[in-house]
Amino acid sequence: MNKGGLRKKLLLSHLGVALSSLLIIFFLVNLVMSFSFGRYVKNQQKAEAGFLLTDLEQAYDPAHSWGMDTLMNISHQAMLRGYTIRLYDAEGKLVWDTGNMGMGMSAANQDAAASRYKIVKAGANIGTLEMQGNGEAEQAQNRDFLQMFNRLSWGALLLVLAGAYLYSRFMARGLSLPLVQIKRIAVKMREGNLTERVPLQMNRQTEIEEVGQALNYLADTLQQQEKLRKNLTADVAHELRTPLTTVQSYIEAFQDGIWEATPERLQICHAQIIRLVQLINDLEKLNAAENPMIQLRHERLLLNDVLRDSVHSVAGRPELDKVVLTLKDEKQIFINGDYERLVQVFVNVLNNALKYTKEGRIEVTLSEEPSEVQVTIADTGAGIAADELPYIFERFYRGEKSRSRKTGGAGIGLSIVKAIVEAHGGRVTVSSTLGSGSAFCVHLPK
Ligand code: ADP
Repeated sequence: MNKGGLRKKLLLSHLGVALSSLLIIFFLVNLVMSFSFGRYVKNQQKAEAGFLLTDLEQAYDPAHSWGMDTLMNISHQAMLRGYTIRLYDAEGKLVWDTGNMGMGMSAANQDAAASRYKIVKAGANIGTLEMQGNGEAEQAQNRDFLQMFNRLSWGALLLVLAGAYLYSRFMARGLSLPLVQIKRIAVKMREGNLTERVPLQMNRQTEIEEVGQALNYLADTLQQQEKLRKNLTADVAHELRTPLTTVQSYIEAFQDGIWEATPERLQICHAQIIRLVQLINDLEKLNAAENPMIQLRHERLLLNDVLRDSVHSVAGRPELDKVVLTLKDEKQIFINGDYERLVQVFVNVLNNALKYTKEGRIEVTLSEEPSEVQVTIADTGAGIAADELPYIFERFYRGEKSRSRKTGGAGIGLSIVKAIVEAHGGRVTVSSTLGSGSAFCVHLPK
């Protein structure tokens, strides 16, 4: 996987978000500063003008207007605060101008706007106060602040770059490591190694974990299919070889005159041929049942009859000496289906129950739910191991017990059951405990 690609994409997206936020903050602060700093300076000036106006009103003498000490005091204030102040009398004649005093106020920026305030005493206009801020000083302050802010912004920018780089590296590692692992295992699967699994952390349910889970599930299924495929060839070969070898050796012995073809020996050959025919029949039935074009007869039938016929079919089995087979079908239940094929279903399940129950009971129970009909065939036999349960309906799957018993079937019985029931729109479920028995339930739609 292209690890750099993921990291680059994450880096770009993190940088994009961080830089745009920084840029917005930068512009907003610059904007706010240029507005509010000007306003702040104006308010400040207004407040100071208020003090000066009070002083001027109080010190006003109608005969001599303002005395020298008042004017000097105003000049002092102006110098301290960095203003240029002009004082006009009621006729508008300039009385005092701190800008012409050679006290540095001439440096006042002529561009800075001057504010004029009327001086009023006892309702009469006694003059005008004009204040002009030292624009340069104000701007210098503003500039200083913005410069500092801009320097800090550059610092923040560098920090953001470094942070985004490190964070995206960290994130890319967190994301790509499990993906790389998943890819490694997928490649192994492609090469035929189905044994490895993606290690999963149970407490984390991320999308990547889910992909890992799905891949593990796929590997499990493929491994099982692979096993079945291998078993299938081996099973068919095995099933064919045993009877054929027996028949071959008998016939060769007859031909060579070693053995006489007694009725017993011919009977053994015949039984082997029957076994072969049975296997081929089973394969054909399975093929027919699994064929999607299967032609089922849809006739209205009494399920009780189907079950009774199925039980009769196995009635002659020798195992029934030690096994009690009972049918519980108090209620009459009709369904639509194919009589012959349904008998085949229940005979197969009953045959298995007999095969794997040495002694005990087998109970066939017919019951009805609002939407379906259920036939449960429960035995008190060997039971099925939990790890075998998911596979017993697979073609040619035979449990350990069936394998070790040479008399076991070919592992097709339940595949036929499943195919026929599904062709009827139903399903088969099974619950089993190893050592104490199994219950197969056939659910059929009403
Ligand atoms: P088989 O010919 O081996 O019986 P089936 O397809 O009929 O093949 O069954 C598949 C496997 O399911 C059997 O090999 C056996 O291990 C298990 N099985 C089926 N029915 C029962 C049962 N009633 N009790 C125990 N195991 C069973």
